[in-house]
Amino acid sequence: MSALEIHQIPVLSDNYVYLLRDVASGDTAVVDPSLSAPVLKAAADLGLRLTHVLNTHHHWDHTGGNLDIKDATGCKVVGALADADRIPGLDIALDDGEVFTLGASEAKVIMVPGHTSGHVAYWFQDASALFSGDTLFSLGCGRLFEGSAAQMWRSLRTLRELPDQTQVYCGHEYTLANAKFAISVDPDNEVLRTRLAEVEALRARRQPTVPSLMATERAANPFLRADDPALKARLGMGSADAARVFGEIRRRKDAF
Ligand code: ZN
Ligand code: FE
Repeated sequence: MSALEIHQIPVLSDNYVYLLRDVASGDTAVVDPSLSAPVLKAAADLGLRLTHVLNTHHHWDHTGGNLDIKDATGCKVVGALADADRIPGLDIALDDGEVFTLGASEAKVIMVPGHTSGHVAYWFQDASALFSGDTLFSLGCGRLFEGSAAQMWRSLRTLRELPDQTQVYCGHEYTLANAKFAISVDPDNEVLRTRLAEVEALRARRQPTVPSLMATERAANPFLRADDPALKARLGMGSADAARVFGEIRRRKDAF
């Protein structure tokens, strides 16, 4: 039985970087290092030996620390094969469905294009942890910079299939703004109302709202609910297909 220790490091204005230590081996991966200095300091403070960088996508606020961390530690950089030419220092290029091994821990690579064309998520099944980057946020999803609404909807449907108890570790603390938008399109959703109250209380104390539970996201995140008949009816799109409904929710959020 593998065990994974997860440390969450807030950086920049609202990014989260994660340090993942496989307890059996001591091997430690850093997920989406925006910067090197706070990551190297946290690893030193915690006594962690960095062996890998795991990137979800090529944006600078997720890869900016790659090269310095690699220089300082000799670690290997892991990312999507589809983004092999855009991820700084990439050593290990993985495709959809392939497994990344960190000591005794394993993560399945899930291709989730939409925010960027080469975006991947990492699912550590035994640890019930999903690193979703800028694809799935708590109560939101990433903007469509390099993909279509249909593509992002397909990606989110894939993530939605993961078990209820999956903890969603996303790339940004955007939850309060997402919750305010979500309640505007789905005001009668009880799970969402409860989550909004919880998020307001956490943020008032400057505490993270991440990770969140997949079960909560599935029930409360409007971007995972584009095929829900009640939400479709509320948007006046009862007969539209889910990808179009998703596109409309994304368009409204962009203008919110
Ligand atoms: Zn991004
Ligand atoms: Fe980002």
